[in-house]
Formats: sequence, C-alpha cells, structure tokens
Amino acid sequence: MEQLYLSSDSGFFHRKFLIAVMALLLAGCAARPVMMEKRAGYYASHRFTATGVNERVRFLVIHYTALDDAQSLRTLTKDQVSAHYLIPDAPASQQGEPVVLQLVDENKRAWHAGVSNWRGRSNLNDSSIGIEIVNQGYTDDMLENRTWYPYKEKQIAALTALAKDIIERYQIAPDNVLGHSDIAPLRKQDPGRLFPWERLSASGIGAWPDKDAVSRNLAGRKPEAPADVSVIQGLLKEYGYDQIPQSGVLDQDTRKTLSAFQMHFRPENISGYADAETEAIAKALVEKYRRAAPLAVTRDSDNAG
Ligand SMILES: [Zn+2]
Repeated sequence: MEQLYLSSDSGFFHRKFLIAVMALLLAGCAARPVMMEKRAGYYASHRFTATGVNERVRFLVIHYTALDDAQSLRTLTKDQVSAHYLIPDAPASQQGEPVVLQLVDENKRAWHAGVSNWRGRSNLNDSSIGIEIVNQGYTDDMLENRTWYPYKEKQIAALTALAKDIIERYQIAPDNVLGHSDIAPLRKQDPGRLFPWERLSASGIGAWPDKDAVSRNLAGRKPEAPADVSVIQGLLKEYGYDQIPQSGVLDQDTRKTLSAFQMHFRPENISGYADAETEAIAKALVEKYRRAAPLAVTRDSDNAG
C-alpha cells in the first residue's frame, strides 16, 4: 500500500482513489447502528429498540426571578434552586439572534417548580423544562396598590424562540405550557400579570380560549356578574388546577387559585372573585383542551407496565 502514496502521477491518482474508498467505508460504518457497546464490566446490546416510549419532558414552566441579573444568576447557580434557562434583563445578541443562558442540561432535573401539581401530576421538576426570566415581579405601596413590572421586548423575543424550540422538540401540548402560579397557585405569582400569554399563544406557545366560545359561554351575562363558585371550582379542577377546593365556597385557597387562573387568562381583572367571565373562559378552555381531545388522554397514558 505504501508505494501508492509515492508522488508519481499514477501514485497521486491512486491516493485520491484510496481516500474516496476509505470515505465511503467510514460513511458505511457511521450509518450502521452500534450493536454492542462496551461498558464497565459488561456490554450493552443495541440490537433491539422499543416502540412504547415517549419524552420524559411534558411541561414547560415559566417564571420570573423577582431579582436583578446578578442576583438571579447567583441564586440560580449557587443556591438550592435552578432552572434550565435564564433570560437576562437585556439579552445579548449574537449574529442578530438573542442569547439565553442555559444553566442546567435538559436531561437533568432543575429545581424550579417546588411543590407543584397539574392535572393529576405532582412534583413537576420531574417532567418539565423551567425557564426563568429576569423581572422584578411586583411591588406593593403602603395602600397595597400593586405595581407589576413589564417584560422587555427583547426578553419576549428570546423566550419565543426558546419556547418554540423546546415545545417542538418535546412535543409539549399547549395546555402543558404553564406559569409557576398555575402549578403552585397558593404560594406563587410568577410569571405575573404582565406576562403576555395571549400574544405568545398566537405564536403557538401555550393555550388560549377561543373568543367565540367565551362569548357563547357568557350567554348574555355581564362579565362581572357573580357566578356559581362550585361550577368554577369544578371547571378549574377539570382543566388542571388539582388543588382547588370543591367546597362551593369562595374560601382563600379558591380565591388564590382563581386569581392565578385570571392572571393567565384574564389579566385585566385578577380579583379572585367567581364571576361570569371567569366561568366562561374556564368552560371554553375545558371544551377546547379536555372534552374535545380524548386522543390526548390516550397518548398521555404511560401507566402500562
Ligand atoms: Zn417561579
């Protein structure tokens, strides 16, 4: 073989030929699956592949940090809390595209959700990707008037690209894109009243009720007209707010959950009262994402075995 590399005209030809053959052989090797993988003291055979499989990640959970850039980064990298991604106050750009900070590998659990529940599942750290956005949250003045801090346009642009990519890769259902306050309504307010859920839903990120369905369910009532608490409690539980009491009474837990729901789907009025519009929105969501989608329930089942 060695003489083929000698620099005669024919040698040059042969060498080019050999390189081409070797490239083909290498490509062939790469395309063939690795059947036997050597590991520490044993081999793993990759000869067979199961079909009954789905992604571990089912949820995308959005937060605000209620801290500035430096404090957010320090807390999320040094303390016992973390998130897969952090979007800074003013995301940098690289070649015209926003830069987000990835703090945790997507295959690992980040510690962002805490005690949490959604639609029969708890501890959503197990099954979610968490995104923290630098935002001050809110401040209350002495008269308890609450001021919420708006998100920056560049943050929403970065979030949109990031969330779309995650949703696409893990096939996350719209109604599984949630705020921290949705999965922990008794103790969390983030991502807050000014998070643009409606706008994001128009970009394919998260759930939103159909306008026509909301007005049909309103059935001529005034939006602020009182509604039956037990009906709303039932609808919110069916939609996913597992911890809402089913008492028929507007107790504190119910009000907090209603307020969390309103922050997501009707940020103009987050009073926590059981009004007709809240009921109409909840019903529209249940109709769209629960009752009209029996297939989603089947696909979601992973209890076999
Ligand atoms: Zn949070």
